[in-house]
This record gives sequence, structure tokens and C-alpha cells, in this order.
Amino acid sequence: MDLSESPELVAFRDGLRKWLRDNVIEQGADEPRGLFLKRWHQVLFAGGWVGLSWPTEYGGRGLSNVYDVALNEEIGALGAPDAPRIGYMGRAFLQWGTQEQRDRYLPRLLSGEDYWCQGFSEPNAGSDLANLSTRAERTGTGYRITGQKVWTSYAEYCDFCILLARTGESGGRHKGVSAFVVPMRSPGIEVRPIVATTGESEFCEMFFDGVEVPEENRLGAEGDGWPIAMMTVAYERGAADVGYLSKFGAALGELRTLLGDRLRTDAAVRRRVADLEVRFRILTTHVRRRLAERDLADTLPGPEMSVDKILMTEVDQALHRAAIDLLGASAVLPAESDAAGEWMRRYLYSRAASIYGGSEQIQLNLLAQRVLGLPR
Ligand SMILES: Cc1cc2nc3c(=O)[nH]c(=O)nc-3n(C[C@H](O)[C@H](O)[C@H](O)COP(=O)(O)OP(=O)(O)OC[C@H]3O[C@@H](n4cnc5c(N)ncnc54)[C@H](O)[C@@H]3O)c2cc1C
Repeated sequence: MDLSESPELVAFRDGLRKWLRDNVIEQGADEPRGLFLKRWHQVLFAGGWVGLSWPTEYGGRGLSNVYDVALNEEIGALGAPDAPRIGYMGRAFLQWGTQEQRDRYLPRLLSGEDYWCQGFSEPNAGSDLANLSTRAERTGTGYRITGQKVWTSYAEYCDFCILLARTGESGGRHKGVSAFVVPMRSPGIEVRPIVATTGESEFCEMFFDGVEVPEENRLGAEGDGWPIAMMTVAYERGAADVGYLSKFGAALGELRTLLGDRLRTDAAVRRRVADLEVRFRILTTHVRRRLAERDLADTLPGPEMSVDKILMTEVDQALHRAAIDLLGASAVLPAESDAAGEWMRRYLYSRAASIYGGSEQIQLNLLAQRVLGLPR
């Protein structure tokens, strides 16, 4: 496959690089990371750099998927804040949403005006998601939702949740699952942040106590929740879709800068960084090729996205482990500059990569069963 870039893509990169140099913003001293990334999302959108591969009618630019890789690469090369990771949340609307739902929700999702969380996991339903027990009971005009979700990223900052709830028989596994759009300010929702080992509370518990939603808030038909969830997580496993190519590119650049002369004088340091560069290039090339193939065949992502997730996890964990090893005490001890604590935070967060979006073991199971056709 020819992966060389068209003149249009080269020009796109030039324009983006120029724009980024003038428009990158800094995180405020007391600004939570989630709110800072939301602000950055809105700045990027105003510049026309969000939703590149989304239809123009919803605020995207209708470009091919490989433009998302270019966006990630340029942001990473400049060390700018991560590309927005929220877009994967709305992909299912393109297939299952009504026209009214798409018009109502997608433009504000892309612009970063509304933030969305993913209410899938529950205390007894993580890897075994089909075991979920949150229920949506029919009322005269819609549904009443009762149950508990957990590990919901950024729930306390979000405006809407894509929630999976059981509408069919309990014990009916994935057949009786439906998806709902739930406004996070609805009466009956309680959100409790959970402090993670990083010291931050990225994720939350969510309690739903008879939360009423109208019928028009159901996404797809009753029982469509499972394929909707699978499409959402397939996009979530794509490193360009969640902005992780930009995040890794920026971190690698920063690490090289911090290592400075040691990269020239210490062969062991050079080898370690070279190993990271190779892993990162493999990931980037894989993602670009995957997206180019998807453009050509006009297909949607499926279980093969587990390869992307595994590669992404490997880069994340190797990169941050190496940073801690090579930067030593300066990466982990508190210092005047908060860069030190920041590397430790990133290292700790990288450990979660083999859990979120489906654990490493689940990705391997999916590849074995759904891609390679091996027995369960
Ligand atoms: C940082 C972070 C953010 C998250 N954000 C969200 C979010 O926004 N929304 C959301 O819905 N969820 C979110 N999650 C939850 C995440 O999807 C689950 O944690 C994940 O699916 C694993 O589920 P679990 O924690 O219940 O672990 P379990 O399913 O209990 O798994 C425990 C261990 O057993 C292994 N295991 C389980 N079943 C099998 C099997 N069949 N074969 C082999 N091994 C198996 C797992 O790999 C794991 O190592 C987030 C998690 C993290 C860490």
C-alpha cells in the first residue's frame, strides 16, 4: 500500500503547524486537566481542526481518516496539548441516531460545547459487560433508569452520558441491552469522583435513582445497545481517534529534550530512546495504514481494533517506564517545577492503559476468537 502523502495533505500539515505555533494554550495553575483539555478542544475547533473525518453537516470537514493521524502527529511534534479524545463517543450516532438526534448532539460534541461520558462499566460488569444490571423501565412517555455505573471518566464535568441499560429480561445477556442519551444534570443522578493512584479523580461512580428520560433519548431501537457499545469501544481503541498519537509524540519529544546531552554521550540511553522511537513509529504506521485501508474500503472499525489497543498500550507503558528509569529521581521526587510530579503521574496513568477500553486479556480474547476464529 502506498502511504506517501498527497499534496493536499502536505499543505494541510503546513497550515496546521503555522496555526499551532500561534494558538497553543497553557494549563492554568489551578485548572483541572479535564477542564483544560475541554478549553483546548474549543480552541482547536474554532481553528477548524476538530472533526476532520466527520461529515461537514455536523461541523466536521469531511476529510479522509488519515487526516486525523496528521493532526495527531503535528500536535505531538510541537508538544502541544493532546488532540481531543471525545469524538469517538458520538460515532454510533452516525449509524444508529435519528436525524434529529444527530442534528441536536453532534455539532456540540465536535465543538467541545458538550462533553460526554461513557456509562458502560458497572461493579459487576467490566470485562463481562453483558452482565450489566442497570435497568431502564418503560413509563408512559419514556424510561425510568435505576442502577449504578463505575469508572466513568470525567463524569463530573460532562453534560451527557451514553448509558447502557437493560430493557429486556434480566439475565438476557447482550440481547436485552439498550443505549440512552442521559443529560447529566437530570434529577436522580449522583456522581462521586474516585481518587486514582495518580492523585486525580478522572473517573467516578454514578448512581441513577429513577432517572427519567423521554423515549426520544433512546439511541437505536430497544436491544441495539450491544452493537452501539461495540462500535463505540472499537473507535476508543484507535490511537488517532482518542488523540493518543499526539500525546505519545509530545511526551517522546519532551523526554529527548530532558535527556539532552545524555542522548549523545550515553549509548544505553540512546538505545532505550531508539527502542521507544521504533515502537512509536510502528504504532503510527500501523494506525495510518489501518485508516488508509478503512478509507479505501469504506468500512467501520471492528474487533481488529484490539491490535491497535495492544500496540497503544505497549507504547504508553514502555515510554513512561523508560522516562522514570532514565530521568531517575528528577522524575519522581517533588521539585520546584511540577514537571517532576507530572512524569510520575503519567507513568502511573500508563498502568491503566492495560485496563481501560477493555483489558489486555480481553483484547487478546477478541483477537483470538473474533479475528483468528480460534475456539473460546
Ligand atoms: C482509567 C480508566 C478509565 C475508565 N473509563 C471508563 C469509562 O469512561 N466508562 C466505562 O464504562 N468504563 C471505564 N473504565 C472501566 C474499564 O472499561 C474496566 O475497568 C475494564 O473493562 C475492566 O473491567 P473491570 O475493572 O470490572 O475488571 P474485571 O472485568 O473484573 O477484570 C479483572 C481481571 O480479570 C481479567 N479477566 C476478566 N475476564 C477475563 C476473561 N474472560 N479472560 C481473561 N481474563 C479476564 C481482566 O483482564 C482483568 O485483568 C475505565 C477504567 C480505567 C482504568
